[in-house]
Amino acid sequence: MQQIILHVKSGNEEPYQVTFTRDEEKLTILCNCPEGKQGRGCEHKIRLASNDHQMLQSPIQMKDLNEAHIWVIQSPVSDLILRMFDMHGDSEQDEEQLQKILEEIGTVMREGI
Ligand SMILES: [Zn+2]
Repeated sequence: MQQIILHVKSGNEEPYQVTFTRDEEKLTILCNCPEGKQGRGCEHKIRLASNDHQMLQSPIQMKDLNEAHIWVIQSPVSDLILRMFDMHGDSEQDEEQLQKILEEIGTVMREGI
C-alpha cells in the first residue's frame, strides 16, 4: 500500500489533510474537512485530484501532488472529474446533474474502484 498525504489551505491556520491511498489498482482519496469527513467529493479532493497546485499549503509538496495526480490519471475517477469540468451552464437540469456527478465522485473517492 502506498500513501501520499497533502496539506491544503483551509482558510484557518490549520490546513486540511487530503490522503491518497493506493492499494494495488485501487485508489481512495479522503479529506478531513467537514464535508470530506462525510465522504462527499469536497473541493479539496477534487482540486488536488485535478493537480491544482494553488490548493497546497506549501509548495514543498508539489512533487507529491504530481505523484498523486499520476495515480488519479490511472484511476476511473479521472473520467468522472473530466465529465464534471465539461458541465457548464446554469440551468436547473445542469445543477441536478452536477450534484449527481459530485455524489458519484465522492463515492468513488471514498471506496476506491
Ligand atoms: Zn475537503
